[in-house]
Amino acid sequence: EAKEANGNTYRLFSREMERKLSQRLEMETSLRLGLHREEFFLLYQPQFDMRNQQLVGIEALVRWNHPVRGLLTPESFIDLAEETGLIAPLGDWILREACKQWQQWQKSDGQPLRLAINLTNRQFQNANLAKDIQAIIEEAGLPPQSLELEVTEATLMQNASSADKFLGQLKELGVQLSIDDFGTGYFSLAYLQHLPIDRLKIDPSFVQGGPGDSNHASIVTTIIDLARNMDLELIAEGVESASQIKFLLEKGCHLGQGYYFSEPLDGDGIGNLINGLPEPPQKARDLDFRLP
Ligand code: C2E
Ligand code: MG
Ligand code: MG
Ligand code: MG
Repeated sequence: EAKEANGNTYRLFSREMERKLSQRLEMETSLRLGLHREEFFLLYQPQFDMRNQQLVGIEALVRWNHPVRGLLTPESFIDLAEETGLIAPLGDWILREACKQWQQWQKSDGQPLRLAINLTNRQFQNANLAKDIQAIIEEAGLPPQSLELEVTEATLMQNASSADKFLGQLKELGVQLSIDDFGTGYFSLAYLQHLPIDRLKIDPSFVQGGPGDSNHASIVTTIIDLARNMDLELIAEGVESASQIKFLLEKGCHLGQGYYFSEPLDGDGIGNLINGLPEPPQKARDLDFRLP
């Protein structure tokens, strides 16, 4: 169509497409190389019981130390990894690396720390996933109940007819399962009831709107009531302020993660949090609210 209208338009259009395509190819090549050169690393977002600031778990978050572009967050490469299929080796590396690092944080006395790992749609659909995970956690000596797998509400909706089966296979390993970004997808409650899920992660958009925005506040209240009725655990994501914490605790959501407590930390940071620091992070200590 552009060609018929005007030769210049066509050339511009095709140049733009060419630029996008070559950028994509370049990114795909560097992703492949990056895996080979071990340019990826993991950060961990600590998760707290907001009633007593106890560390209850960590969520692994991948980063890419790109040789030219610098530090990249997943939003700039996860989709491409997903489309190109490179999520398979990347996802495999993430699982192995997180389980390996997890080993070094275990104290002989304490409760094992829960490790949460995100799965993309394509990873979730992989027929070998359960088998692969079983091999990885056995090798790392990670008790299955200490591993939590996060699948987004969007992924479950895209796999509506098979999600039950896939989740069931993972659940058979003895791992915990959570729905990430919950509340964003108008999920059918009747459907949710049949899934072998342990935990809902309330999406940051509702947590952050919470106390002030009455719409968001009522969504949070609805999710909390739902979780209670269905006997699901809850964790709030993206907690950034004391007023959000107060609101969540009043409504009955006890677990939280977010910048208020800590930004994602590297392995050493998590080690310090577990072993080195007897006291919780500064900000968390300053909290003073009455428990409901
Ligand atoms: P997610 O699983 O919902 O992860 C939470 C995201 O929120 C992380 O961004 C985290 O850094 C950010 N965050 C944490 N606390 C706060 C806060 O208080 N305020 C705000 N505004 N943001 C906060 P990140 O690391 O950029 O990850 C983005 C998404 O990329 C993740 O969302 C997840 O869907 C995906 N992702 C991250 N790491 C992995 C991975 O290892 N594997 C897979 N498959 N996906 C990953
Ligand atoms: Mg997540
Ligand atoms: Mg989330
Ligand atoms: Mg997200």
